[in-house]
Amino acid sequence: MQVVLLQPPFFRCLGSHNNQVQLDLAYVSRFLDDAHIEHVVVNADHGFGGQRYVPWRELFEREESLRLAADGEHPILDEAVEYVLGFEPEVVVIAGGDTTIPTKNIGSPYIAAQVSKKIRKSGVRTVGIGPVFMKETGPFAKWFDGIFMSAVNRSIVDFLVDNDIGFMGGVPVGVVPCFDHVVHGRPSDLVMTAFGCAHDCSFCLFPVVYSQNVTFQLVETVLEDMEKRSKLVGNEMYLGDAIFPLNMRRLKVLADELEYTNYRFRCESRVVHCGQARIVGSDEAHRRQGGEGRAGEFG
Ligand code: SF4
Repeated sequence: MQVVLLQPPFFRCLGSHNNQVQLDLAYVSRFLDDAHIEHVVVNADHGFGGQRYVPWRELFEREESLRLAADGEHPILDEAVEYVLGFEPEVVVIAGGDTTIPTKNIGSPYIAAQVSKKIRKSGVRTVGIGPVFMKETGPFAKWFDGIFMSAVNRSIVDFLVDNDIGFMGGVPVGVVPCFDHVVHGRPSDLVMTAFGCAHDCSFCLFPVVYSQNVTFQLVETVLEDMEKRSKLVGNEMYLGDAIFPLNMRRLKVLADELEYTNYRFRCESRVVHCGQARIVGSDEAHRRQGGEGRAGEFG
């Protein structure tokens, strides 16, 4: 079975681009690789030389382009579909995007759905992946042959083979994402160190997907992932905890393990988790790596 893992041209439809392959697709690639399923990873959002990144303010001013894409009328969608069909796939797995363009009825999952509709016209099966499809399961169910709405986990392989619509739990603990099959795009610098979030902000999908549970990635998996990723993207990475200093014990374990590495990283937190002890703990993680300033950029 030839499978294409596709990141639709979300930002290219708005005149910008996103060169990094979505991490979800790299996890799916790892599971397919382990199952010896032939596949390629295509980032149709990749820019072509010299293209600039467009600031958010300008992006939101381009609502008409976004509307064209969400209605399936943007020419870049047809170009992406033609490119994908050139691989003669049996199944195309289409990432729904994250909450990058979160507007109801017009966000990234709608663009993914339009790509799906166009691909299916050629008789090729499509599967949408990503929690963003939870927003409106009714219409999305019509536009794909299957939808995998949960966090990515190993059951995606059975899901692809069985072709069903469903929701499976589980997170990729102990799994290192694979970028070996990327034919178009650049590996992501996002390294997942935990999955889920302890909070329940109403605008966020995390509480729905993870039920306010946080699962920490195995420390040895984080280190293996960072080592492999550093060879692809360099020593600067983005750590994927929703709230990096959430758990002091965990913070200390990571700090101890990262002590003799020369990685630099960025991470996120909430203001309520930025007490002095935690910032000092994060600083410590950074200082031990030879850094001079704070541990990361808390966003
Ligand atoms: S703290 Fe961040 S990740 Fe957690 S629920 Fe709120 S917005 Fe989502």
